Amino acid sequence: MNDIGHALLTKIEIITDDWIGAIRTDIEIESAKGLAYKSVRNSIPYVVEALASLLSDSLKDKPKKLERKGLDHGIIRAEQGYDVAEIVREYSLLRTIIVSVLKSDLLSGSAEEVLSMIEVIDSVIDQVICWSLDSYLQQRLEELEEVRTQLLLTNEELERLIATQKEDLSELAHELKTPLNSIIGFSRLLQQQQQKVNENPDTSLNLELTEKVIKNGRQLLHLINNALEMSRYEAGKISLNLEPTNLRFLVRSIIETLEPSATHKNLEIKLDFDNAPEKMVTDPLRLRQIITNLVSNAIKYTDSGTITIRCQTENDDQWSLIVSDTGIGISKEDQSQIFNPYYRVNLKNRVIPDRTGLGLAIVDKIVKLLQGEINLVSTPGEGSIFTITFPVS
Ligand code: ADP
Repeated sequence: MNDIGHALLTKIEIITDDWIGAIRTDIEIESAKGLAYKSVRNSIPYVVEALASLLSDSLKDKPKKLERKGLDHGIIRAEQGYDVAEIVREYSLLRTIIVSVLKSDLLSGSAEEVLSMIEVIDSVIDQVICWSLDSYLQQRLEELEEVRTQLLLTNEELERLIATQKEDLSELAHELKTPLNSIIGFSRLLQQQQQKVNENPDTSLNLELTEKVIKNGRQLLHLINNALEMSRYEAGKISLNLEPTNLRFLVRSIIETLEPSATHKNLEIKLDFDNAPEKMVTDPLRLRQIITNLVSNAIKYTDSGTITIRCQTENDDQWSLIVSDTGIGISKEDQSQIFNPYYRVNLKNRVIPDRTGLGLAIVDKIVKLLQGEINLVSTPGEGSIFTITFPVS
């Protein structure tokens, strides 16, 4: 039989590349999406190298190194937000790829030799999974302790607030944001912790409950953020910071953050700067909010097709931003109301998460503040086009 350890050593790069390709297309490893090649790769080549030395008679084994790499891997995956199932899954893909890449070398041996090699591969990978999960859980427990301390502190802060009887609701809402963030983080950790105990019959129920807490917590946070924003506009508390702004750079950076949710729904995002103004003055933070709200609506209310964001010069004094989608569209009656705070179109039996009815009301306020105008053309079943026209300076 060929020296399997040696064969493995020469194929580390192929295995690593095949494995990263498999991870990227695997729908069960959501956390790897958006991670750089190097971050996904992590210590896998070392694991394969150490496995090679265990498989080869001619190489000295390095179990200590393997253990250290396995432990490091778990810590890094915890930091990257992987859950337990994702770690187990990535190792199981690694096992499949190693066996398939070594196929011809394995087949050069007798059935007995093949079986014993596969046994070594299996047991090493199982051992590395155990090390990785050990350090992963340790890392999570430390985070959990940190969040708990934070939660206690914010709770004290809240009690102090209530004791001083602050009446300004918007201020209270502002203060509520911190504990809410903690609750969301806390439940996420809990959820990840619980995923490992799937033999416990109560776990699925607990998981369902924590998922509800996370979902409601996120929605509440979204609502509080929007309500806060709205109340600031209504109180006239927003001042503008006008400065020359690079439109392409701004739009691209917004799209980078929104793209994952579009990709998730298989929607294409197109940018068109062909006739964009060279120079313009605006408040980049406020403009960012307008674009974010319009584009996230376009993604939210579109099931298939394309979202297009176009910036174009209208004349010497004006430029416009056009966000169009191929989504569900808005009827004439609703078009006259959607800019009112808290107004949401009745979508019959459809459930679309995170609807507060405040996004467009905020857009409307900011557009007025920036002395712009907003125009909507929409056909139910075909899509919507939101055009905002701004002065160049
Ligand atoms: P919400 O948080 O509910 O999305 P918005 O103020 O952003 O709040 O929008 C108000 C309503 O207008 C939404 O609930 C939705 O019914 C409708 N709407 C907004 N944008 C679009 C769009 N691009 N396509 C279809 N309907 C939309």
